[in-house]
Amino acid sequence: METTPRLFVISGPSGAGKGTIVARIRELMPNLALTVSATTRKPRDGEVDGESYYFLSDKAFSEKVVQDAFLEWAHVHGHCYGTLKSEVERHINTGRSVIFEIDPQGAFNVKAIYPDAVLIFIMPPSLQVLKERLEHRGSEDEQSLALRLHNAAQEMQLAPRYSFTIVNDNLDKAVAKLQSIIQMCETRERN
Ligand code: 5GP
Repeated sequence: METTPRLFVISGPSGAGKGTIVARIRELMPNLALTVSATTRKPRDGEVDGESYYFLSDKAFSEKVVQDAFLEWAHVHGHCYGTLKSEVERHINTGRSVIFEIDPQGAFNVKAIYPDAVLIFIMPPSLQVLKERLEHRGSEDEQSLALRLHNAAQEMQLAPRYSFTIVNDNLDKAVAKLQSIIQMCETRERN
């Protein structure tokens, strides 16, 4: 069956499992391209510059804003995050579907530029589970953890504005649901 490459924007609160789900779906569907965002936050253990993010200083990020280098950018959890136009252009003409893993501000901005983009929200089973996952992950200090939990409740209220919501109470099922959404959108007429 003929398929059409699409743009898929994936959002969800910190700790909802977006990164794990996206990593798994890329193993299952290696033709999917993922945009690497730029950020001013510091790398976590194991994060690689140019793979996890382009890690920029505040000054370097501001310069790129002035140069109009970003398709979209936003303040998220006290840092700047943005999708470079060059990153999108790098993929968009290759005939592959592209995944953006970005916050709701970025998602709605991408949708305004590319109305065909498919917005998918990854929902944690509950705020309590989210808190436990973030604590278990151990990637955040106390202040950042509190901020991320505070922002999670607000982000979750935006889920109805997304085309699809996936509740991540079971990783395998969440990945399977994402795969079926991607396959369905790639094979049907755009709307
Ligand atoms: P983290 O610091 O946990 O890697 O990401 C924090 C938040 O920033 C997540 O909600 C993530 O989706 C969002 N984010 C990552 N890259 C971008 C981006 O390029 N643009 C926007 N608007 N948000 C992003």
